Amino acid sequence: MSLVVIKFGGTSVGDAQSIRQAARIVQEATSQWNHVVVVSSAMGRSPRSHDNLKVTDALLTAARTAAEGDSDTFHRIRRELTDKHQAAIDAVISNVDERHRILDEVEQLLSGFEILCASVRVLGEVTPRALDAISGLGERMAVRILAGALCTQGVPAEPVDATEFIVTNDHYQSAIPLVDATRDKTRSRLLPLMENGIVPVVTGFIAATAAGVPTTLGRGGSDYSASIIGDVLEADEVHNYTDVDGVLTADPRIVPEARTISTLTGQEMSELAFFGAQVLHPMTIAPLLEKRIPLRVKNTFNPNHAGTLIVHESPYKDGERGSGIIKAVTVIEHISMVTVAGKGLKGVPGIAGRTFMAVARTNTSVLMISQASAEQSICFVIPQSSSTKVVLELKHEFTREVTTGEIDRINTVDDAAIVTAVGMGIADTPGVSGKVCSAIGKLGININAIAQGSSECGISLVINGSDSKEAVRAVHALIIT
Ligand code: ADP
Ligand code: ASP
Ligand code: MG
Repeated sequence: MSLVVIKFGGTSVGDAQSIRQAARIVQEATSQWNHVVVVSSAMGRSPRSHDNLKVTDALLTAARTAAEGDSDTFHRIRRELTDKHQAAIDAVISNVDERHRILDEVEQLLSGFEILCASVRVLGEVTPRALDAISGLGERMAVRILAGALCTQGVPAEPVDATEFIVTNDHYQSAIPLVDATRDKTRSRLLPLMENGIVPVVTGFIAATAAGVPTTLGRGGSDYSASIIGDVLEADEVHNYTDVDGVLTADPRIVPEARTISTLTGQEMSELAFFGAQVLHPMTIAPLLEKRIPLRVKNTFNPNHAGTLIVHESPYKDGERGSGIIKAVTVIEHISMVTVAGKGLKGVPGIAGRTFMAVARTNTSVLMISQASAEQSICFVIPQSSSTKVVLELKHEFTREVTTGEIDRINTVDDAAIVTAVGMGIADTPGVSGKVCSAIGKLGININAIAQGSSECGISLVINGSDSKEAVRAVHALIIT
């Protein structure tokens, strides 16, 4: 019994024509696989018209502006969302009764959205929990339309809300799945459908706590949903359909000549995603690791292109760490470099531990760490949006050391960027770091910090944000594929 999970991103369901194309891909898959499960994002921009409305972004804007007391914006967004979904429904669902039924369901979801935004406006604040309830509505509308389009094309399909079976903790906005509960619930909800020849069309991005409160898996989380479902259903493959020909050697918006990478290891892909390659959510690979489920990244609008295959077996023999060839370069912008420094740090045990405990208390994730060997400074990188609260917490933690002068500096450099070169074995292949640094140095760009990923397949450099695009292009020029 073969099973594939197929995920479509926002652009792949961004308008009627794209939804029909996605449905054709599923139809084709049903002739090649015994079972197909579809996962969909909310409608994104249309790849061909001027419709740039991304549903999840719009829902979040509505919630945030409502919290500021603005009711015009969420009412306007409600109208735009009605128009966008209605246009798609009218164009892709041929059966009149079905069309009306789906329109009614979407209308109900949008009425609920308006009521939630009105409540947020009255309260004057929007909690992470409310943001999850509101931002997850886009997927719930999209699956109804995609399932309807499949039925129109003769493929029996049913929309399913993942809030029924992906169980997470209550860390709203980036909730963590509870695997055992998710496995049992997913199997009992989806297997009977599949056994009856029905293709489940499941919402990406959203889940719920054990008590049934809606959560989300973080922005871009539909990729993660697909791999969680792939894992618990023991799929043979997961196919991730997006709007480019697979994983590319760099972000094509920065490096237009970026090329498709034909194969990557899971480790390389995780490193790329963690360090900013938007194409996959950073957690996508983890659920696929244990059962070694291959992941293909393909283009909805160019489905005959092989795209990228991500495998979990390293192509290298024991003892070999990799070819040491740079395969891709990524960038994360809008980051801050935090330094805790002072002569008193030298040899004092526990400073690093206290530093990172303080950062953890602010709920901030550290993207990169580098410490000078002289132990006189600890330097790490965080998202810029967290920099004020992290510095405050550090100053509080080290009040005594700052007073005695053991620590003389706790500061941040904002508007920085991390540029990362990725490839198996590059971090311990002599000469690669040198090549990367000199390619950037030749442009007169200053490198503020350097670190290698724990997986040894990444070399990361911190530079000024204004230099980041030039630096990415310089490292890209080193790539041999
Ligand atoms: P989807 O809505 O299909 O999930 P995303 O917008 O989340 O799509 O991710 C795909 C986009 O990621 C591409 O359109 C591209 O602009 C961007 N991107 C950034 N880095 C890369 C990369 N290394 N390879 C491919 N795409 C990348
Ligand atoms: N719709 C969600 C977002 O825009 C999830 C996703 O697209 O993967 O973040
Ligand atoms: Mg995405």
